[in-house]
Amino acid sequence: MSDDERTPLPLVFDEPVGRRKPPRHLAGCTPDERVEWVKELGLPGFRAKQLATHYFARLTDDPAEMTDLPAGQRDELVGALLPTLMTPLRTMEADRGTTRKTLWKLFDGALVESVLMRYPDRATVCVSSQAGCGMACPFCATGQGGLQRNMSTGEIVEQVVAAARSLARGEVPGGPGRVSNVVFMGMGEPMANYRAVIGAVRRLTDPQPDGLGMSARGVTVSTVGLVPRMLQLAEEGIPVTLALSLHAPDDELRNELVPINTRFSVAETVDAAWNYARVTKRRVSIEYAMMRGINDQAWRADLLADVLLARGDWGWVHVNLIPLNPTPGSKWTASEPADEREFVRRLEAKGIPTTVRDTRGREIDGACGQLAATEA
Ligand code: SAH
Repeated sequence: MSDDERTPLPLVFDEPVGRRKPPRHLAGCTPDERVEWVKELGLPGFRAKQLATHYFARLTDDPAEMTDLPAGQRDELVGALLPTLMTPLRTMEADRGTTRKTLWKLFDGALVESVLMRYPDRATVCVSSQAGCGMACPFCATGQGGLQRNMSTGEIVEQVVAAARSLARGEVPGGPGRVSNVVFMGMGEPMANYRAVIGAVRRLTDPQPDGLGMSARGVTVSTVGLVPRMLQLAEEGIPVTLALSLHAPDDELRNELVPINTRFSVAETVDAAWNYARVTKRRVSIEYAMMRGINDQAWRADLLADVLLARGDWGWVHVNLIPLNPTPGSKWTASEPADEREFVRRLEAKGIPTTVRDTRGREIDGACGQLAATEA
């Protein structure tokens, strides 16, 4: 018998580094939980709402600015409920500063990224929901590194609040502004971290000061197609936009491009997307990364349209084509412009509304599937 087997490890090793929980934070609690927490600290419950107002409405976490809190309680309240969840390691800018990618270091050293994209009429934050990703899509940089861990609700929300702060403070060209859209298209598979993601969506959409007060319509949850979770999401009563990363209309190819397809087929996955549209009355977005010679043939455009139309032609769906952003060392590259145009034409000819995603932030590796790969 070896020493290891005889000597029980001290308890502390039951929670190895990297398995510790992220700090508890106001952003990860419901309004009721915040009140309970503040009372546990021996302070009056209404302090919770005051603190939430600073965090979600005034977008400050500096105790000195919280003059409505008694000076003697400020540091204690902020220290307890607003601990530092993440520190920016690096910010990169493109598009004259209107696209900003931030690399964050989480409390345990895990790295994640978020991207702020400002347009004339809106500002979108692309957030991560996991450090790494376990879905292993071969064309996606994040998918190559595997999953490190799920992010907490607080960590997800804090990415949006950080972006909201820099917009409010006028740090992004175009004058002070607000976050209008959040897309769960950064690192990770949101439906594989369901509870934390739903918590985050609630914090984003709860009216101020309980949350950020965003419209659910401005929030897009993107998934590889975890069917049970898609069905569950439809029943949550929060009408977020659902995006399904389909990338192929046939099982043979999708099994390769999106390996989870071997568990949930194209038919089951598209049925779940259709169900989401039926229950929520929200049009579903089908994401389709155009890969030269792989999934961009005219016949696949026809098949894609047929697969979608088989569930109804009442405008339940639209297709968003994403020019593939090639990852280092990958055998795939973006489609020829002519093939892309023909693909769009075929879909539209069958009555499927189709858009081609712009490719902001490519030069800062802020584009789809590129996040944090170089650092990790
Ligand atoms: N895991 C979720 C959300 C994260 S990725 C999902 O898969 O939907 C967001 C989108 O970017 C997905 O549609 C994903 O397939 C796509 N994507 C990943 N890598 C890409 C790349 N190299 N080029 C273009 N799109 C990519």
